[in-house]
Amino acid sequence: MADPMYWNPVLETLPREKIRRLQLKKFRKIFQWAYDRSKFHRKLYDDAGIKPDDIRSFEDICRIPTVEKSMMRDIQGKDPFPYGDALCVPLEEVTIFRQTSGTTGQPVYQPDTWQDWEWWMECWSYILWAQGYRPRDRVFIPFGYNIFVAFWAGHYAAEKIGCEVIPGGVLDTKARILKIQELQATAMMGTPTYILGMAETARAKMDIDPSQLTINKITCAGECGASIPSTKKRLEDAWNAKVYDHAGATEIGAWSFECTAQPGGMHVNEALFLVEIEDIETGEIIEEPGHRGKMIITALDRQAQPCVRFDSKDVIEWAAEPCACGRSARLIKGGVVGRAASAIEEVVRSVDGLGDEYEVIVDKVGDAERIQLKVEVLDEAQDQCRLIESELADQLRLKTNLRYDIEICGCDTLPRYEVKAKRFKDLRKPKAEK
Ligand SMILES: [Zn+2]
Repeated sequence: MADPMYWNPVLETLPREKIRRLQLKKFRKIFQWAYDRSKFHRKLYDDAGIKPDDIRSFEDICRIPTVEKSMMRDIQGKDPFPYGDALCVPLEEVTIFRQTSGTTGQPVYQPDTWQDWEWWMECWSYILWAQGYRPRDRVFIPFGYNIFVAFWAGHYAAEKIGCEVIPGGVLDTKARILKIQELQATAMMGTPTYILGMAETARAKMDIDPSQLTINKITCAGECGASIPSTKKRLEDAWNAKVYDHAGATEIGAWSFECTAQPGGMHVNEALFLVEIEDIETGEIIEEPGHRGKMIITALDRQAQPCVRFDSKDVIEWAAEPCACGRSARLIKGGVVGRAASAIEEVVRSVDGLGDEYEVIVDKVGDAERIQLKVEVLDEAQDQCRLIESELADQLRLKTNLRYDIEICGCDTLPRYEVKAKRFKDLRKPKAEK
């Protein structure tokens, strides 16, 4: 018998109006949950004069104040320690601690209950199934599992759908490649930069051609590279495998995925998340395709520390066409744009001694992508250039998972822009992406 096409055939093909009805119903429920159980949320909504019974339509939802990462940072460290008063369950029901990689300063703590963790696995099961993972797959995870949520849920979801999982945690790159070869792994998950680097190591240092190995699909996360056509192509060529993108976040969940139809964008899992796109200038919610705005997202089923109208700072837009795969969940065009950009900006602006201007130049050196970052050191900090450079490099690596060639420039040497800054230069292809 042929494999079922969808992980959840009912929810994934639900007609639009039914998805919307489901989202509204679930939103009201999670809003009530947060209002009743979290002092933090109740105060936020009381101050805005909004009660759970006021929420009857999507128009009502638009009026609810958003939550930002900085607000979560402010409450943590307080009672109930260490999460603070957005916690909606007794502390003893929390079964796992995670934290964000943190784009500015202190990371944000994220508690989950066992039920939340099962929800994480369920979210990832949609992703993996949509990307062609099946019980016969042998999945290698070349990733150092740690305090961040990255690939933990991917690991357990792969087990849940019946794959065989090989945890490649503390192995080094060469040992990982040898294990893939030895066990004939068929799939793997990682950041695009690392997966490209692995291919390079295999070719240059081990005389192994990664395209001759048995990997036939790769799930990327953590960076937007797999949604950038040129990067995706390089990854696919290097491994002779299909490469799929996924976007998620510690404080949100695994909310989107690319499917095997590779439609040039990612599905939002609308049965489990409500994504609103807000016009940055007018504050209006954008429903039509082709108009970028910032993402405001609600995890409709997450309980310990709810994610209700979270302002993610991601920039996205709806795609115009439905996907050929038949899923009724909407697509966001070209994946998430602007996240790496905003992370770099936040890092540059958090390091003492640096000016506000910076420039990022992406180009190709051999098979690898090189990212040059030019920053300005303030006059009074000129004697600390070395220190500043190493702090900047550390922070960038930690917060964007990418490596940079850093060039320190003098004060006022980089171009200034009055309206929209053109800080990003993409030299990899003739036409700049953004
Ligand atoms: Zn699709």
